[in-house]
Amino acid sequence: MAGSGKFFVGGNWKCNGTKDSISKLVSDLNSSKLEPDVDVVVAPPFVYIDQVKNSITDRIEISAQNSWVGKGGAFTGEISVEQLKDLGCKWVILGHSERRHVIGENDEFIGKKAAYALSQGVGVIACIGELLQEREAGKTFDVCFQQLKAYADAVPSWDNIVIAYEPVWAIGTGKVATPEQAQEVHVAVRDWLKKNVSAEVASRTRIIYGGSVNGGNCSELAKKEDIDGFLVGGASLKGPEFAVIVNSVT
Ligand code: PGA
Repeated sequence: MAGSGKFFVGGNWKCNGTKDSISKLVSDLNSSKLEPDVDVVVAPPFVYIDQVKNSITDRIEISAQNSWVGKGGAFTGEISVEQLKDLGCKWVILGHSERRHVIGENDEFIGKKAAYALSQGVGVIACIGELLQEREAGKTFDVCFQQLKAYADAVPSWDNIVIAYEPVWAIGTGKVATPEQAQEVHVAVRDWLKKNVSAEVASRTRIIYGGSVNGGNCSELAKKEDIDGFLVGGASLKGPEFAVIVNSVT
């Protein structure tokens, strides 16, 4: 743990679940023993946020998986930050690789979304990460720095941002980055913040890792100095396993 604040573990439920399966997941989480010194956040699909907020322990905060880039209005199919706040969301995940590479969101749009969410008092889990071919071409740092720069150019402050480094080749593939691979990028991200934002932001911003984190590999990853938590997809759909990941803080 290098950033200041608590270890941060987010569960990104993506486009999964039904009213019944989510009610079971929430009840498993409510009965799990969670280390007190960890910020725990879950991100249900939009349509289940209200159900989750009304049934989950106050110990766990709620995040959205996306938000609209500005104030609500005539934007069919979108969800505004104001509406998310109304439902009790404290966080929003932005720049996730599935939004970048499947939906086609670009750096500038993601930066604007981050700035808007922050302006409304909602924290941002700001995702970055390279594709496999970019890693193989030796471009991992370039890609991450470009994505970071888009956030830095748009946001007025880093007070309420957690950076999630999620190599795209590790997401949902079962191919987790080694602790050394993750640590190397986290250090580079912290250096970039130091040079391009400030030493203070670099030392206090939490940088979490995502990509095939599970109950079996979390402890080794959590030991690395610059890994300040996790963003968990698949394994966050299983309450007991998610609790193991939360409790992997060292
Ligand atoms: P995964 O997803 O844990 O299923 O790889 C992580 C993420 O997309 O945040």
